[in-house]
Amino acid sequence: MALTLAEFNTAPAEQALQWLDGLYEHSPWIVERVLPQRPFQSLAQLKHALTQVVSQSGRDAQLGLIRAHPELAGKAMVSKSLTAESTNEQGKAGLTDCTPEEFARIQQLNADYNARFGFPFILAVRGPRGLGLNRHEIIETFERRLHNHPDFELAECLRNIHRIAEIRLNDKFGVEPVQGNLVWDWQEKLAQHSDPGFAELGQLTVTYLTDAHRACAQRIAHWMREAGFDEVGIDAVGNVVGRYHPATAGARYLMTGSHYDTVRNGGKYDGRLGIFVPMACVQQLKAQGRRLPFGLEVVGFAEEEGQRYKATFLGSGALIGDFKPEWLDQQDADGITMREAMQHAGLCIDDIPKLQRDPAAYLGFIEVHIEQGPVLNEKDLPLGVVTSINGSVRYLGEVIGTASHAGTTPMDRRRDAATAVAELALYVEKRAAQDGDSVGTIGQLQVPNGSINVVPGRCKFSLDLRAPNDAQRDALARDVLAELAALCERRGLRYTLEETMRAAAAPSAPALQQRWEAAVSALGLPVFRMPSGAGHDAMKLHEVMPQAMLFVRGLNSGISHNPLESSTNEDMQLAVDAFAHVLNHFTAV
Ligand SMILES: [Zn+2]
Repeated sequence: MALTLAEFNTAPAEQALQWLDGLYEHSPWIVERVLPQRPFQSLAQLKHALTQVVSQSGRDAQLGLIRAHPELAGKAMVSKSLTAESTNEQGKAGLTDCTPEEFARIQQLNADYNARFGFPFILAVRGPRGLGLNRHEIIETFERRLHNHPDFELAECLRNIHRIAEIRLNDKFGVEPVQGNLVWDWQEKLAQHSDPGFAELGQLTVTYLTDAHRACAQRIAHWMREAGFDEVGIDAVGNVVGRYHPATAGARYLMTGSHYDTVRNGGKYDGRLGIFVPMACVQQLKAQGRRLPFGLEVVGFAEEEGQRYKATFLGSGALIGDFKPEWLDQQDADGITMREAMQHAGLCIDDIPKLQRDPAAYLGFIEVHIEQGPVLNEKDLPLGVVTSINGSVRYLGEVIGTASHAGTTPMDRRRDAATAVAELALYVEKRAAQDGDSVGTIGQLQVPNGSINVVPGRCKFSLDLRAPNDAQRDALARDVLAELAALCERRGLRYTLEETMRAAAAPSAPALQQRWEAAVSALGLPVFRMPSGAGHDAMKLHEVMPQAMLFVRGLNSGISHNPLESSTNEDMQLAVDAFAHVLNHFTAV
């Protein structure tokens, strides 16, 4: 019989401790310290409390916890002296069936890792879906993490320990993230479609209207029908639109969704998570035979990333009447115009203007998205509520000095363009950090025709500045531009600067943001508010209707636009639960 939360909440401490025995390897003190916080309203709250105990326990206790774990496929496994939990996990990951070469490789990695960090390598070998990583994935992760900074790696071990505990806790409570698994599996299946040139390398690339892209649209549409949507269609720009009708005809709709295109060699969850989470909710509603007092429109946006053509947010743009006809003449790298690609796909170009939605027919737009940053992962928080999508401004510039002999030009007589840009980069770093939530980047810094023995006479650079509101962004830009002028003046240089892009911030609508906050709270999780550093489809809908976003934690420091992008079935379940909470408590119609 599986344990229930009510039993756990009311049992004598000794009994509760015994039930959770083995949750953290040889470290009962962690469970012991959360017991006074009972009753817990949810397993998610208990899990979070456990992470807090460890994060507040100090470095020595954390090292002790890590060292209480056995090495992967190490001596303890060979001599069969692992705990029952570890035997099960290492066995499931196939570590007991290593080839002699794999076994030797893991032993070498164990030795190198221990020599570098002084503690054993910890990996939740049951992985983000709970079914077990394969030996290849394990060895690859081991090799990658060997290069991490020691402080980061210590934190990464603790995060893996919490993931191991989470899976063990689910086993004890007989809990399975059913919708989380469904969402995870949908994403896995969708990732089977990738553009030629990338598919062969095992990389995920789905750009606008390629065969893989159109296959994705078909599959999403198919799964929407299977989930029980009342209407499913692919519109004139390739968006997949599913509608779940309201209880009463004529009621307004809540719109949600995200994009299914990807960057080149991207992750499986960027965008797609925001399509599948609401689909899982509709599947539940349908299964329960329930209708909401409002309709739900889930849109899989065809294009957001601007990879094949320069147009970005094409899918969401079309819904707000912002599809620019001149885009149709843009050509991809092979000279195929967007018009040709759309005709080839059988899309009705003439119908694009009809896609524009009447905002009065909608309650607003909400979007779930993987965070694409390290914050939630670092804070051991599965969900974050977005306060605003950052406004941004971009420039391309060049500083011009004098190219001169590196040997004969004294240091006080140089007109070095590259050191000026380097000084600007240091200023941007300091000035953006001052705001707390602004970011500034000089991502390109290039000395044209530079030479090892020549003082740089020219330096080209890019500048990207972002902040949660336009005033803060503009103040940041003003200071950075003033610094550029001042340092060029001081160094006897001149410069050019061209603004190439400016996007307004999209602050979340307070009423919608509060719905996400209430949902996160109801799950027993702390409400953590954060701006979105990246642009999202919600930014386009923001122009015509209220919007608010929910972020889901990413693994591997939240890395995104990268195949290492990852999230767990458990976090996806929480996203589904939060979404369902918003739907069930959305009263204004
Ligand atoms: Zn995205």
